[in-house]
Amino acid sequence: MKYIDEYRDGELARQLAASIGQEADSARTYHLMEFCGGHTHAISRYGLEDILPANVHMVHGPGCPVCVLPVGRIDAAIWLAGQADVILCTYGDMLRVPGSKRLSLLKAKAEGRDIRMVYSTLDAVKLAQANPARRVVFFAIGFETTTPPTAVAIKQAQALGLTNFFVFCNHVLTPSAIAQILDSPEVRELGTVKLDGFIGPAHVSTIIGSQPYEYFAEEYQRPVVIAGFEPLDVLQAVRMLVRQINDGRFAVENEFSRAVTRDGNAKAKSLVADMFELRKAFEWRGLGLVPYSALRIKHAYAAFDAERHWDVPQDSVADNKACECGAILRGVKKPIDCKLFGTICTPENPMGSCMVSAEGACAAHWTYGRFRDTKAPTA
Ligand code: SF4
Repeated sequence: MKYIDEYRDGELARQLAASIGQEADSARTYHLMEFCGGHTHAISRYGLEDILPANVHMVHGPGCPVCVLPVGRIDAAIWLAGQADVILCTYGDMLRVPGSKRLSLLKAKAEGRDIRMVYSTLDAVKLAQANPARRVVFFAIGFETTTPPTAVAIKQAQALGLTNFFVFCNHVLTPSAIAQILDSPEVRELGTVKLDGFIGPAHVSTIIGSQPYEYFAEEYQRPVVIAGFEPLDVLQAVRMLVRQINDGRFAVENEFSRAVTRDGNAKAKSLVADMFELRKAFEWRGLGLVPYSALRIKHAYAAFDAERHWDVPQDSVADNKACECGAILRGVKKPIDCKLFGTICTPENPMGSCMVSAEGACAAHWTYGRFRDTKAPTA
């Protein structure tokens, strides 16, 4: 297939779903976690769960970069925005995620702090160039896909001789999060979350390749199929997982071969390795402290590190008690299990991060009406 429409062909999708139904063993269930928010979005948008056999269950994972950032780091970004001469900039979704006391960057901006939305890391560098008397902090978030652009921005700031450009680094790593889920008591001991296989990330894998997932397949005996974000990609990945599970195989397979190789993007990986090093541990919303799951800026680039320039608070702050984002990100609950879903919490009035980002499970369910058969929202 060559064109995007072909990956969205409804008739082909129905045929693929029917073949999954024929191949799936009716005597068992299949619980498949889609790690990525992009897959969650595709599954909701195209109603894929409606055409899959009843014994194939999709479990949402923690692969939404905005969702997994804990409250403490949002509070820290708001704190940074309050420092003298600071312009804090970040991507649009981050502005609306509630921190503690329901304060968000957007509300902090309304209260007078200089907080701006940027579309790219290079916009942030331009902001620093245009405002030499101010200190510009880029609030960097995201998985392996958005880390190389942050590295490029630091390199560019260095080449331009900028001394007023800083990065508040919150880049996180996919493989560590998958390991944390597989090691969680819900999966390992209690069996409350059943996971028979993973749909591996699309964009992340274009950078890191398929090789890092081989460890999970071998060590945890779970098949992984890397898939693109189109509906036929997801259905094809489900069929590949069902086949592996039926055969008792635990391999890494690559459905997204049009963009992903085993070794990934060597140039991007070397740029990231030059600029960043592993943190010993990093807090994730829903997953808690995850060892070696995030990056910090290396000493050689310390002049651009906001956490070295300021004594940034490192507090762990509890989530809103009523918000079930944490459990949703671990695959323990679904958006409709949250009492606030569609009542108090909507995209216009998000109570948690999963309702803010387009990749968040709550926002995907809300936007594409995945609640309609189960719960009628009042808003
Ligand atoms: S519906 Fe809102 S409050 Fe409930 S889990 Fe989702 S984001 Fe949190």
